[in-house]
Formats: sequence, structure tokens, C-alpha cells
Amino acid sequence: MGKCRYTRRDLLGSAGAGAASLMAASWLSSCRLNNAEKTQQLKADNKKKTHIITLSFDDGFKKSSVRTAEIYEKYNLSACINVIATAHLKTFSPPGEYIAGSNRGDFGLWNELKRRGHEIMPHGYKHANKARLPLGQAKDLILRCLDYFSKELKGFEPKEAVFNFPYNSSTPELESWLPTHVRAFRTGGGAINPLPHKGQVKLTCTSFGPGNCERDIEAKIAELLQRDSGWLIYNTHGLDGEGWGPMKSSFLDKLLERLTAIESVGVMPAGKALSQLTFA
Ligand SMILES: [Zn+2]
Repeated sequence: MGKCRYTRRDLLGSAGAGAASLMAASWLSSCRLNNAEKTQQLKADNKKKTHIITLSFDDGFKKSSVRTAEIYEKYNLSACINVIATAHLKTFSPPGEYIAGSNRGDFGLWNELKRRGHEIMPHGYKHANKARLPLGQAKDLILRCLDYFSKELKGFEPKEAVFNFPYNSSTPELESWLPTHVRAFRTGGGAINPLPHKGQVKLTCTSFGPGNCERDIEAKIAELLQRDSGWLIYNTHGLDGEGWGPMKSSFLDKLLERLTAIESVGVMPAGKALSQLTFA
């Protein structure tokens, strides 16, 4: 890390421009090596985690998503933000008061947050309840959602994606079809999943609302930590009054501070947990 703490002024200071650029190239290449080694170390450390916690933030509220990302960055963590493909468009018809009540972000913001290391995943084309639609229509909406993400979100790969069902509502038919298009999906069920493993395509979660969800999250975390191992996936929404079942930003901040101090706990988004922690 120490070698990377040079500013541009350090590199260009008293040396001539040619010498400085050679020094800069050499220092930057050692930084790249160090970063690669650090990433490897981080992955190795993550594989030792026995308790994984994913707070899975739905609906893509603009203000909450920006704040959530900032809080995660304070602890060097990636946030898990699941957004509706068309929620930023004027033609979008919000499915209820909790989504209608706040501005949603657009793909300018989602690309920016992804670039900063956060995970941006699909949460439907227009937030339809897929279990209440004919199968063909439900599949069509999911494919349109994945196409939209492929076009608008830089680096998005459906095969690496976690599709987060609106209302955590799926059907057995959709659950068996969807893994032919995405890495995994999140739907309703138990909050605690087995640790990431090969072939794991169905992730289940719980949530709490419409009031403040903090006590419920605390209870689920306590339940996880009582077990020898597990992966808690908790579906949250906005911060500071935004969305269904919100939490306070000060609560999230303190929670991440507490969780990152526990050696066995890894806080990470669902896609990252599957890609980094799955043993072949
Ligand atoms: Zn939602």
C-alpha cells in the first residue's frame, strides 16, 4: 500500500520530465502489482468468512442509492443495489405509493456507482408481479429487462447477473427457466442461505415493512451469527424514510462499522459472493 501513496506532485517534483515519466511508469507498475496481490489476498480472506451478509437494496431510489454507496465506501465495501429498468423514464407507471413517492436514479447514476465498485442488478422491467402474469408475458418482461441492462449498463453480463424478483414473487416454471439466462435469482423464502456454492441459482430472502426495518434486520443478523455458518440475504429498500421498510442512514453506518469488526463476517453483494466465494 505504502508504495501507492504517491501524489502526482511526488512523481513530477524535482526530476526532469523524461526521468519523471520513467519513474512514474515504474512506480505505477509496482502499484498495479500490489493491487493485484491485494485483490488476491482479499479473495483469499473472503473465502475464510463463515458468515456472509448481503443487504439487497431494491427499487433504485436516487437519494438513497447515492447515500448507501457513500456509506459502503466508508468501509471499503460494495453495495448491492437492484434497480427497475424503466423506473427513470417519464412513461414509467409506479406500481405503488412507496415507489411513486421518491425519485428514482437513471443509468447515468447506475453506471457511475458500478464504476465505483458497487453492484447494480436487475429488479424487473417495470416492477410487475411475475407470479400474477401468464408465463410467456413474465418471461418476456424479464428478457426485456436483461436487454435493457445490456444496452444501458456498461459491462453488464446477464450470465453473471442476479435477477431480483419484484415483490420476491416467482413461480416454479420461472425458477427453472431463468438460470438459462442469468447466474442466479433472488426470491422470497428463508433469510439464511447456505454459503455460496457451485450450482446455487436460487437465493432466498426476507424483508420487513412498511415501517422501519432495523429491529428485524438486527434479529436476522443475530440468528445468522448463532449458526456455525450461513449467508443472510436481507431485502431492504431506501434510507431515511424512502421506500417500503426503510432504515436510517445512521443505522446503516453503525451497522457496517459493527459488522466489519467481526472477523468471520463478510459483507458483500450477492453477485460478488457467488463469483468470489463459490468453490469449483
Ligand atoms: Zn421492488
